[in-house]
Amino acid sequence: MAEATITSSSTVAGPRAKWTYLDKFLNRTGPFTDPDSFQPGKTVIESLERSKVFGAGGLGCEILKNLALSGFKDIHVIDMDTIDVSNLNRQFLFRAADVGSFKADTAARFVEKRVKGVKITPYCGKIQDKDEAYYMQFAMIVCGLDSIEARRWINATLVGMVDEQDPDSLKPLIDGGTEGFKGQAKVILPTMTSCIECQLDMHAPRAAVPLCTLATIPRQPQHCIEWAHIIAWEEHRKEITLDTDDPEHITWLYQQALARAQEFNIPGVTYSMTQGVVKNIIPAIASTNAIVAASCCNEAFKLATNTNPFLGFPETDNYMMYTGDESVYTYTFEHQKKDDCPVCGLGTIARPLEVSPNMTLQDFVESLAEKPEAQLKKPSIRTGEKSLYIQSLADLERQTRHNLEKKMVDLVEEGEEMVITDKAFPTQFKYKVVFK
Ligand SMILES: [Zn+2]
Repeated sequence: MAEATITSSSTVAGPRAKWTYLDKFLNRTGPFTDPDSFQPGKTVIESLERSKVFGAGGLGCEILKNLALSGFKDIHVIDMDTIDVSNLNRQFLFRAADVGSFKADTAARFVEKRVKGVKITPYCGKIQDKDEAYYMQFAMIVCGLDSIEARRWINATLVGMVDEQDPDSLKPLIDGGTEGFKGQAKVILPTMTSCIECQLDMHAPRAAVPLCTLATIPRQPQHCIEWAHIIAWEEHRKEITLDTDDPEHITWLYQQALARAQEFNIPGVTYSMTQGVVKNIIPAIASTNAIVAASCCNEAFKLATNTNPFLGFPETDNYMMYTGDESVYTYTFEHQKKDDCPVCGLGTIARPLEVSPNMTLQDFVESLAEKPEAQLKKPSIRTGEKSLYIQSLADLERQTRHNLEKKMVDLVEEGEEMVITDKAFPTQFKYKVVFK
């Protein structure tokens, strides 16, 4: 070993006793270390401690704890939420007395108290409140966000920040997400590798069940619940506004759904499933969160120290999927960058978008929210010739509203380019009309 060990041994308590085992990676070269990018000992430890990292989102407790215990000492965290009693079963940095307080504040104080020497700077608000200058200060961004909209925003912001003349402007984005027993972790090098927008179809919104399936032949317990929710309530309790937090309302829906399920011999309708379907809850499972957050933080450690190759480098496999709902299965593959990606692509290619000629502009606007490749909730639409519908300004909305009832075939031509913007994203989405 070239450099003196600065760790204390496991028997002698010292300032780095907590990191005894971690230091085994940092104080010596290993089979994966490259002499050009890895200097064992003091250099790498100090650089890890100096690495300013940023974390946010629903996996926050796990990520914050893991980063602090991995040797990062300057961590910034953003979260807009306050602590709810229902968070306490898995968000282990919070106690009953913290209910109502901001998550970012409480989590920061807790971790600082437990892991001495770590500085955690909380901000209680939205990631969108901060600008490029703010994100520029970090070595990397670790996100465990629970909203696709926030993911797309941070992704577009980081891609936009890259200046080819300034290598420091490229901030690796480590992104983790879970849904029940499933999850994924990925490393994105903005502009260089496949970005969140390239991967958008991997986060497709759950397909809505056609009304005819609900009304005629349900196949799944969820169909019976949706039937009770959409059809039965309307028939029997029209005068009452459904309150999904009212146990009496959920019980009524549950009983209706159960009766319908028995009629069609469909097992599986339960009270909690009714609550989940009606409130559109994706269950958060503590252990899945722990697995995905841990894998994200290991990538952060490797990125900061170069002790081992990180996800996506030098190999091209950049996307890890964890599937635990049917036995256990992990798969790591290369998600390729898309040339027509509106965020990291060439910016000149319009993506083909299928449009029914006879649908109204109103229907088209609504369909953009559900299309996996678009997922735009408040789109404004222009062609080279005219503004079809602009929602971003009240005046323009009034001026273009009359177009909503027109048919698409009367507004656009086959092959014509549409530019779609949405206030939620700093991106222009270009599409080419393909009539079907
Ligand atoms: Zn992209």
